[in-house]
Amino acid sequence: MTSAAAQMPDEFNLSAPQPGIYVHLGKNLPLDAPGHDDIANIGFIVGSRCVAVIDTGGSVRIGRELRAQIRRRTPLPVCYVIDTHVHVDHVLGNFAFEDDKPHFVGHAALADAMNRNRQYFMKEYGGDFDGTPSADQVVGPDQLVDRELALDLGSRTLRLRAWPAAHTDCDLTVYDERTGTLWTGDLLFRERLPALDGDLKGWLAVIAELSRTKAKFVVPGHGAPSSDLAGSLQRERGYLAALYDGVRSELARGESMQDAIGKVAAGESGRWSLWKDVHPRNVARAYEQLQWE
Ligand SMILES: [Zn+2]
Repeated sequence: MTSAAAQMPDEFNLSAPQPGIYVHLGKNLPLDAPGHDDIANIGFIVGSRCVAVIDTGGSVRIGRELRAQIRRRTPLPVCYVIDTHVHVDHVLGNFAFEDDKPHFVGHAALADAMNRNRQYFMKEYGGDFDGTPSADQVVGPDQLVDRELALDLGSRTLRLRAWPAAHTDCDLTVYDERTGTLWTGDLLFRERLPALDGDLKGWLAVIAELSRTKAKFVVPGHGAPSSDLAGSLQRERGYLAALYDGVRSELARGESMQDAIGKVAAGESGRWSLWKDVHPRNVARAYEQLQWE
């Protein structure tokens, strides 16, 4: 490949795996690699009255690309921008939708979480803003979900559900009744190793509850969409349960966290990508959470 070809921007992939549901598949890259602003699955759902965006990507640029894709496919207005949780790779594109004047919708804890992260995003991800990083470009929610909320897009109802602390403290799922599609945010990772930022025990409990839902199709936060929700959750549970059990037994034996990193859940390492980037931090988080149990 010539260097000119290497610098060509990738085509912005977008597929419609279900009627009226459009998904842009994020790249499988670490959060500090070039292209890190495009690692999350993002997309939109089209009703007869308006469009709901679900997650906006890790930069204003990615948000604008997503918006351009919407404009190519429908003249309907964007009435909702739904954030599945606070992580930078899912929310920094919100600013690209400000002119649409949508409702920005999130978990009841999302507003605080965005406020807590605003300076961090500006400092660590300044290059992902539009020009000079500014606080107003980190757009928080104006409509909060305590437990459940139904959004009507016209002939199409989305059921939003706010969860107890799991992947983060502000995880929200979106269920499209028309197609039976569940959009999980980062409550479900496929292929890419799940990253723990919320509560390990809580996440295992949420997985158990999600397993009882009857979705026909699932869009995970990372990795390919699938018609196998139960199997995907089972696989994720395999890693998180091994992390939980492994850290508990290392703690019981008085092992240091450093020694534990190489041992805990080691049997899972070949089944996931980005193990070395994500697993050590997961062990550290689990240590913090479980040492007082
Ligand atoms: Zn996340």
